[in-house]
Amino acid sequence: MPDGRPTLLLSVDFEDWHQLIRRRVGASNWREPGPALAREAEALLELFDRLNARATFFVLGMAARAHPGLLQAVVERGHEIGCHGDAHLPVHRQTPEEFAGDLRAARASIEELTGQTPVGYRAPAFSITRAADWAYEVLAQEGFAYDSSQHDSPAIRDRAVPAQRTPHRLGTGVWEFPVAVWRVRGARIPVGGASYWQLLPTPALLRGLDNAGPLAGLYLHPYEVDPEPLRAMLPPDCTTKQRAQAKLRETQRNGARRRAPGALEAIARRFELIPYGEAYARFRDGA
Ligand SMILES: [Zn+2]
Repeated sequence: MPDGRPTLLLSVDFEDWHQLIRRRVGASNWREPGPALAREAEALLELFDRLNARATFFVLGMAARAHPGLLQAVVERGHEIGCHGDAHLPVHRQTPEEFAGDLRAARASIEELTGQTPVGYRAPAFSITRAADWAYEVLAQEGFAYDSSQHDSPAIRDRAVPAQRTPHRLGTGVWEFPVAVWRVRGARIPVGGASYWQLLPTPALLRGLDNAGPLAGLYLHPYEVDPEPLRAMLPPDCTTKQRAQAKLRETQRNGARRRAPGALEAIARRFELIPYGEAYARFRDGA
């Protein structure tokens, strides 16, 4: 039930940082489960319980298969399961047929592990760009009811603009829930993502979220609440260059990691945080 505070939509892009960084630098062991996702998942669930916040976990199929025991706890703690695709490839680099196949692979794994069919989708790196606007047709055909892949951040190239700032129904029938962006003096400041929370003082972050509009979206990654520093732990056969690439990503990610839990605590004091599916249901039912 709404409690009088303004409402934001909370989400996690539930993926295994170690799988993604190892694949990015070309390490041979990238499919293996990373050593951190289990403790990160527990940290997320504890944080959300403490803040009385519930979230949508947009689950990456390949991470779910590598960690088959993790999703049940997410469901049991009252969070919604959404879909982050299967292989974390940009939508604009896939054909419509490949994209449909990626959605089906992810959904099959998620259904097998949770017994639930996700109806919400979040593209890897917000990659439903202008070149991939066909993706909404595919999402509708594949039975998805809502999407949260539009992020009007200057960091995203070829994004669909002008982006709307509030939830809206697209021509395909799919509902779109945009990520929070603070529009101030002609600039766009992405305030929805935990990776940006380290860059803003908390009062400015809260002011930005006030401005971002009702039901704007927030997103975290599991590594952003990791209680321990991230280490890529590449296999021995990796080169110096691969290690340097991984080190750079480690340093970037560890910066965001330190700030995210405290920032979310401040956000949760001011805003009610709910899963996307709950907001979608309000629109679907005409509330
Ligand atoms: Zn992702």
